[in-house]
Amino acid sequence: MEKGLLEVPISKNNDAIEKNEKKCIVCGLCMRVCTDDVTVARMYEIDSLKEPICINCGQCSNVCPTDAIREKLDYLKVKNILHNKKGKKVVFSIAPAVRVSLGESLGYSVGTNLEGKIASILRSLGADYVFDITFGADLTIMEEAMEFVNRIKNNGVLPQFTSCCPAWVKYLEIFYPNLIPNLSTTKSPIAMQSTIIKTYFAQNNNLKPTDIVNIVVAPCTAKKSEINRSELSITSKDTDYILTTRELAMLIKEENIDIMKLKDSKYDSPMPRGSGAGVIFGTSGGVCEATLRTTYYFMTGKNLPKSKIIFKSVRGMEGIKEASINIDGREIKVAVCNGMKNAKELIDKLLKKEVYYDFIEVMNCIGGCIAGGGMPKVKPHDMLDTKIARMNALYSEDENLDLRLCHENPNIISIYENYLENPNSKIAQELLHTKYEDKSYMLKDNKKD
Ligand code: SF4
Ligand code: SF4
Repeated sequence: MEKGLLEVPISKNNDAIEKNEKKCIVCGLCMRVCTDDVTVARMYEIDSLKEPICINCGQCSNVCPTDAIREKLDYLKVKNILHNKKGKKVVFSIAPAVRVSLGESLGYSVGTNLEGKIASILRSLGADYVFDITFGADLTIMEEAMEFVNRIKNNGVLPQFTSCCPAWVKYLEIFYPNLIPNLSTTKSPIAMQSTIIKTYFAQNNNLKPTDIVNIVVAPCTAKKSEINRSELSITSKDTDYILTTRELAMLIKEENIDIMKLKDSKYDSPMPRGSGAGVIFGTSGGVCEATLRTTYYFMTGKNLPKSKIIFKSVRGMEGIKEASINIDGREIKVAVCNGMKNAKELIDKLLKKEVYYDFIEVMNCIGGCIAGGGMPKVKPHDMLDTKIARMNALYSEDENLDLRLCHENPNIISIYENYLENPNSKIAQELLHTKYEDKSYMLKDNKKD
């Protein structure tokens, strides 16, 4: 078969994924996923551009049977840093989807939640501090829900799109730049947490930002690219490295960590945990559900009754899901899409005014971050069951927690009292919000439709 027609081109400049041409067997699976699910390969004439367009999602790496395409590896750099710290403090944060998938690479059954073990593993690898990104997710909800309330009250631009998935953000900037005003200005949970680590945490521990090596373990390859967006950093670079779940498993194996012998341990202050709302961020529908819980509180001053904090209709594997809720006499309509093909379908209807929503969650990966491009690889026939098991593990963690609302998280309350003042305050805007760029220039008039 002729090379070039069936395989997605990956630029050497791609800051998230890379391709080893020698390993490519021209099976066409990468092109199929990029065309059918991610839709990028069908949005422009691939042969016409020197630099292929890529939103860094890594879905092609997940389906590549020979590992010809994979994430750009950073774990060896991190290993070196852990072996030779040169006086630096090494800080790790873990994204929610990692806890319910890491075990798959280490002999545990699918859907096992290794939350307690992860902090112990990272400490035995040499971490000085281990934080939970569910804290950053709670912070994101506080900012995003307040932004949503302000848009509703002040006749702002609606629908408000979520902005936590960097692959989706880049997709919109390239293919739908006219919708940039709809994109929430809140940074992603990882970007927010990293800013807090290099500012608030550093100041409280008499550290300079450069004294800290800040590493995040994420399910996502697109995060490797996101951390290079200079507009997300307050310091010279707020996140130093992203390791995928797969890379953390490689590091654990290379360092011969016997995790069965490790006891569970807690994460460190000031970011030791998030609420159940922060936990479900890792799955499609979770951001929307979490935001509705806190939007209701911000608009009414009351919490949703316990029986109503679950929004079943935005859960599960459907490509496009919907819900509505009456808050203070106003009917709020929301939609959730996972997979860019579903997002594209919804956006095209939105632009033709065939549908209306106030709030739309978009995740590039089908199922959300539990199916991210850096997750343990799964055989195609096990894919759906694996995604559902990972999803259910996050939902059952939420259901077993007393703390399920981000605005009740004592660590979140404390950081607003001591540092950030209020959601969307001047300092919160400076540290936790961002801006976007029209990137349609990348298409150079080669957009197909
Ligand atoms: S990373 Fe995503 S957008 Fe880029 S080539 Fe692979 S599937 Fe396509
Ligand atoms: S859905 Fe999650 S894992 Fe997938 S690209 Fe977006 S942020 Fe990354």
